[in-house]
Amino acid sequence: MSDTIKYLLPETEIPKDWYNIVADLPEPPPPVLHPGTHEPVGPDDLAPLFPMSLIMQEVSTERYLEIPGPVREIYRQWRPSPLYRARRLEKVLDTPAKIFYKYEGVSPTGSHKPNTAVAQAFYNKEAGVKRIATETGAGQWGCSLAFAGAIFGISVEVYMVKVSFQQKPYRKAMMESFGASCIASPSDSTEFGKSYLAKNPDSTGSLGIAISEAVEVAATNDDVKYALGSVLNHVLMHQTIVGIEALKQMEMAGEYPDVVVGCTGGGSNFAGLVFPFIGEQLRGGSKIRALAVEPAACPSLTRGKYAYDFGDTGNMTPLTKMHTLGSTFVPPGFHAGGLRYHGMAPLISHLKELNLIEASAYHQNACFEAGVTFGRAEGILPAPEANHAVKGAIEEALRCKREGKSETILFNLCGHGHFDMQAYSEYFSGKLEDRNYDEQELAMALAGLPSVAV
Ligand SMILES: *Cc1c(COP(=O)(O)O)cnc(C)c1O
Repeated sequence: MSDTIKYLLPETEIPKDWYNIVADLPEPPPPVLHPGTHEPVGPDDLAPLFPMSLIMQEVSTERYLEIPGPVREIYRQWRPSPLYRARRLEKVLDTPAKIFYKYEGVSPTGSHKPNTAVAQAFYNKEAGVKRIATETGAGQWGCSLAFAGAIFGISVEVYMVKVSFQQKPYRKAMMESFGASCIASPSDSTEFGKSYLAKNPDSTGSLGIAISEAVEVAATNDDVKYALGSVLNHVLMHQTIVGIEALKQMEMAGEYPDVVVGCTGGGSNFAGLVFPFIGEQLRGGSKIRALAVEPAACPSLTRGKYAYDFGDTGNMTPLTKMHTLGSTFVPPGFHAGGLRYHGMAPLISHLKELNLIEASAYHQNACFEAGVTFGRAEGILPAPEANHAVKGAIEEALRCKREGKSETILFNLCGHGHFDMQAYSEYFSGKLEDRNYDEQELAMALAGLPSVAV
């Protein structure tokens, strides 16, 4: 048989726990510091922004955290998600490698983001929160939190990076359909947005700027909390449901991956797939290579500095140690909007320092080419972000071909690209530019890193 194979788990196999990799790490991650005092932050420092239940997950060292019943009930709508063996792609590439992909595009908003949006909305609802402010890059997170807000009766206010707001008007319409509001960032509805616009009237925005706006709204309004769709420990943990399912599905397929690949913006879909496999390895199981793929135009893991930095441009968030391009760095406006973040999840950065993961970077045309090759073989058109994972997986499959190895490759197809057809059109008409980040701007942003005596 040479056609694509689907591995489906029954609903009763939806995982009952999320996995917390901190419990298995050889060294704990560095502490999160207060932006003013540079002392480690305590749970109370974060209380204006998040409900206490999520803060306790953020600092937890327990290996497993139980998924609440109501969250599992909502997950049933699209979970367990399918795992496929891409046999038609293997044939096109003429590779001895076995290629598997976990498909998260089956969620209501078309990506992995609802896995954490539903959980975060649930805990906010439990804490009596009525309004949540957030930011979004490509619009995937804004749509996912809007969906979760609609289910739990929470109103959602989304600051969307201006360049994506203009490129993807349908994302805004989707957020509004779910009852959320969507504002182009930088905006004049926050103090930070106003001051930024005064200095940079033509700004196309960045995730760092949009985060500052959303955090400001939460910090200055008692009845508003803040939510983040990536980067934080609890977000990465919610996404591990992807890898826990994939472990069981690989067992169904009778294979174990040698290489696990994901794209990295803030790191959540990559962590979601690879952490459960790295956990197995850390507890004495088989070793894997975990490969993070990022855009060459915003290369935090491959070119950033491992240092304490702010999560936002307005310097309102605590300081975390991560691979960063500097919180004032504004990446060029390429099409994988979900990968345009100046930093990387502190947990992913820590794993990189421990040599538990590898990273590589590619330009967007090469990634779209990989996505189109994949789409023609498998019939699913990936999101521009996911094209980076596809590119990484194809490169590994071609390496196996050169080396004559029949390794098993697993990657996260974290979302479909149906809202991104404009980007595909531009790719086909040769209008996509492979831009490098501005070396000078990067040097300036890195020179501006806060000095922390650790
Ligand atoms: C948001 C998003 C990303 C980037 O975020 P991560 O936290 O790195 O996963 C990647 N792909 C898709 C489809 C997204 O929606």
